[in-house]
Amino acid sequence: MANLVAIVGRPNVGKSTLFNRMTQSRRAIVSDVAGTTRDRQYGKCSWNGKEFSVVDTGGWVVKSDDIFEDAIRQQVRVATEEADLVLFLVDVETGVTDWDEDVAMILRRAKLPVILVANKVDNSGNAYEAAEFYRLGLGDPVCISAATGGGTGDLLDMILTKL
Ligand code: GDP
Ligand code: MG
Repeated sequence: MANLVAIVGRPNVGKSTLFNRMTQSRRAIVSDVAGTTRDRQYGKCSWNGKEFSVVDTGGWVVKSDDIFEDAIRQQVRVATEEADLVLFLVDVETGVTDWDEDVAMILRRAKLPVILVANKVDNSGNAYEAAEFYRLGLGDPVCISAATGGGTGDLLDMILTKL
């Protein structure tokens, strides 16, 4: 089974929180300050007897020759080159941003599986708000709360079907 899953998304959407939950580790630092994941980015996730690798792209420092390419875009590009599956994390509290639209376009063009994940759905009330992410053209979002774990079991089931 091909097995590298990359978590991509804007700073502060909850990438490190999800990474820690998937890898049962506290070693990726979670912070309110954007861009503060500094240590471990790779981990292993076990689910239903299967194991795969996870990378939190928020901690990657990627070198690029193109001075006009911003850091986050570089991370997305490298993720699409290295990963077998991308989890594109968006934030239901902020809704769709211009950056989300740009990244969605890059991901739609890349020929690899993507799961659109709406994070911070901490209660059923804001699951309704997640419907707006459908316009990113990546299907219906899978709603989760990385903080409480809500929806993450269904997400892991879906990951196994796509690897
Ligand atoms: P990253 O920059 O994408 O790695 O985001 P972090 O994992 O560091 O999280 C950024 C902030 O969002 C932190 O304050 C987290 O506690 C918070 N956060 C992460 N997941 C959730 C969630 O499911 N619900 C809520 N309400 N907050 C979350
Ligand atoms: Mg982080």
